[in-house]
Formats: sequence, C-alpha cells, structure tokens
Amino acid sequence: MKLTPYWLDTATPSGDYRGHPLPERADIAIVGAGFTGLSAALEAARHGASVVVLDQHTVGWGASGRNGGMATTGLAVGLGKAIKRYGRRQAAEMFAEYNRAIDTIEELVKEHDIDCDFQRSGKLTLAMNAKQVGQMRKTQQALAELADYPVTVVDKQDIHSEIGSDFYAGGLVDPQGAGVHVGKFVHGLAGAATRVGVALCEDAQVTQLAPRPSGGHVVHTTRGVLQADQVLIATSGYTGSLTPWLRRRTIPVGSFVIVTEPLPLEIAQRILPRQRQASDNKMLTYYFRITPDNRLLFGGRARFALSSPEADIKSAEILKHAMSTVFPYLSSTRVDYTWGGLVDLTMDQMVHAGQRKGIHYSLGYSGHGVQMATYMGKQMALSMVGRPSRNLWEQLPYRAVPGHFGPPWFLPIIGGYAKVVDRFS
Ligand SMILES: Cc1cc2nc3c(=O)[nH]c(=O)nc-3n(C[C@H](O)[C@H](O)[C@H](O)COP(=O)(O)OP(=O)(O)OC[C@H]3O[C@@H](n4cnc5c(N)ncnc54)[C@H](O)[C@@H]3O)c2cc1C
Repeated sequence: MKLTPYWLDTATPSGDYRGHPLPERADIAIVGAGFTGLSAALEAARHGASVVVLDQHTVGWGASGRNGGMATTGLAVGLGKAIKRYGRRQAAEMFAEYNRAIDTIEELVKEHDIDCDFQRSGKLTLAMNAKQVGQMRKTQQALAELADYPVTVVDKQDIHSEIGSDFYAGGLVDPQGAGVHVGKFVHGLAGAATRVGVALCEDAQVTQLAPRPSGGHVVHTTRGVLQADQVLIATSGYTGSLTPWLRRRTIPVGSFVIVTEPLPLEIAQRILPRQRQASDNKMLTYYFRITPDNRLLFGGRARFALSSPEADIKSAEILKHAMSTVFPYLSSTRVDYTWGGLVDLTMDQMVHAGQRKGIHYSLGYSGHGVQMATYMGKQMALSMVGRPSRNLWEQLPYRAVPGHFGPPWFLPIIGGYAKVVDRFS
C-alpha cells in the first residue's frame, strides 16, 4: 500500500521548480501552490502582473493533491442553514456561486487544454434515514423555487439505479457535479501559469512578511528575500504561524482516503452505475467515486486527527472497514493507496476571502475547495490587478476559534460530538 496520494502518483508534474531562482521582486507574491494560488497566479499574469508562487513543498502537495477529486455543487453549510442565516436571496446567490465555480474549472480545462478527466457525472448525496430523505425533498423544493434548479430525489426502492449498496435510505442527485483528476489538474494549472510567465518556487517556505513603509511587503523565505507589492495567502488547512490571524480562524481537520486496486468493469459499474461523485449526510461523512482507471476512492473523516504516516495507516483500516460495510462485496478487495490531508474548516463553514493589513487571503473552503479554491483564486487575482471581480464572502463576519492559538487541541472534542450526532440521527 502506497502512502502517497493516488492523484499525484498518477500525474506528471509540468516541471521541477525546486531549484527555480527566487526573483528579487514581483508585483504579486502568492504563498501556496494549490488551486487557489495557481489559479490566482495564472489570472494575474494574464493581466500583465509579474507573479511569483512560493510553496514550502511542491505543486499540489497540500489539499489540492490529496482530495476526493469531486467538484460538487451545494454549500458546505447546507442550503437550509444558509437560508436561515442569510435569507433566501443571498443563500440562492451563494448556491449559484458554487456552480459558477465548477464552470470555472471547465473553462480553464478547455482554455489551457488540461487533460484531467473532467467529467460532469453529477453529484449523489446519500441519506442515512427516512428523515434525511424528507429533508432532501425540502431542498429539492427550495432549489426549484429559489433558483429554478432541478435536482432529483431517489427513494430507497430505486437506490440501486444510483449505487450498488443497501446501506442508504435514499439520495439526492444534482446533475451539475463533476469529477476531475486533481493531480493532472493541479499540474496542468502550474504548467499554464509558467507558460504565461509565472515564477514557481518549490521548497520555498515563507517565514516572514514584513510590511514596507511604502506599501507592499518584504517576503522572507528559506530561499532568500523578495520584494512584493501585493501578497496573497493561499494556504488553506496548512495555514500556520506566518499568518496567526488567519490560523486562529482556521480549523485544520484531517480527512483520509483509500484507493483500491483497479476493479473489473462490472464491479465498478455496480458500485456507482452513473459514475456520480457520492457522499453521505453523516457528520463524519463518507465520500466516494470511481477513478478514471476504475478504482474505488473512498474517503472520510475516519479519525479526528492530523495526517501523519501512522494516522494515515490507522485511518486506512477504519476506512477499509467502512468501505466493506457500505459495499460488502469489496471486503477482500486490495487497497493500493492511502493518505490524509487537512481540510480548512471555518466556524461558519463559509469561504472567507478579502484583505487585512495589506495582505490578501482566500481560504475556508470547508471541504468544497476543488471548485471554490480554483474560482476564488481567479477572483482574488482580478481584484488584485484592479479588474471587476466577485467576492460574495467579503462581508461575512470571520470569527476566530475560541482558545485556538496553535495546534488544534480541540479536534477530539469535535470528533466526539460528531460521533454522538451520527449515532442518534
Ligand atoms: C482528504 C481531503 C479530501 C477532500 N476532498 C474534497 C473534494 O472531494 N471536493 C472538494 O471540493 N474539496 C475537497 N477537499 C478540500 C480541497 O482539497 C481544498 O479546499 C483545496 O484543495 C484547497 O486548495 P488551496 O490551494 O487553497 O490550498 P492547498 O492545496 O492546501 O495548498 C496550500 C499550500 O500552501 C503551502 N504552504 C503553507 N504554508 C506555507 C508557507 N509558510 N510557505 C510556503 N508554502 C506554504 C502548503 O505547502 C500547500 O501546498 C478535500 C481536502 C482533503 C484534505
């Protein structure tokens, strides 16, 4: 079993940027070479800005190379809660923004000819019980009224048309959801960015951002110092001591994934006959999909721990058991890959993007960053180069996590709470 992300193992980097010389100055310095950072870099450079992207590791090393590869519609917080919090009009706008974000991936893939198995196969959300199916019907009605947006509710008796399992009580299908090979996508974005002149520097940890009296920052890195007129923080769940204000607002939750051996075609088609991007409605959710080479990718918040080789191996055992519970006919299927990564949750499970003390930021995608990070990277770049941009999240209150100043000591408490909620629902 490999302890590396399947996505990165089966994609070819567009180049080796570990030795790329650090420029002396840039109009824009971006910290983080994931979807946010690379999509921002590409857009800003297209508008004529000189851009450098700095990553302490390599392209896609963070969540962008470790996720489920599911670009799915719907708000992380759920439509019902969003309506209660923000009202019907704003909730509908926010919902539409997630769809716009998937369109952005599709546009980038076409425009830059990125071969990354992008496929609009639809999203399947699975219900644990009849009550959740009832809630799905309400969501269906709300989406029709608010946005004239059609989704389908599948009852228990028809569930085999969507999934080869008796574990779930029903589901909601949204045809707009898409799957993408995120390893190929993130490397494709890096390649497109370098072709328009972006300087990519891997193995370059940013250690300090010192404000300049004239505006902008001196960016200190482990590979030297550079002057930048503007800075964008794109560090999602890996936000650390460089930006304590953002770290206080970020809950880095470990999420873990296993990928099986390639499956016979008839088994892959039995699991998800329509190749949907699937996830269930538990708090400790399971998510799964078929990869382009017919493996099952199965992920979840197996443990409320940070990712490490030991944590990843323990999580693989838990996930293998979970996979066999949902799909008993996979109980003797070999697992070829396992890994973990950090999801950047926020107190309100909403994206937060804006500017504070001259530093731009976009993070808090709360498990929906495949499309939203790509989209918000682009929007932040447009705003930084002075072009019209969209940022629905700018005015949302951005609350710190009480008592959170360093490592997230409170994760086991959240994990315990989630387990109790799942057991009683
Ligand atoms: C296991 C898992 C499954 C997921 N599944 C899905 C899914 O199916 N669908 C979905 O929409 N979302 C999913 N997500 C979330 C999604 O992957 C992220 O929201 C998204 O990739 C965030 O992209 P990003 O570019 O903002 O950050 P990242 O890709 O995390 O990149 C941040 C980068 O910042 C770098 N960095 C941090 N600090 C510094 C520093 N001081 N100096 C230099 N570099 C620094 C890191 O090395 C890292 O490479 C999942 C996440 C995980 C972990």
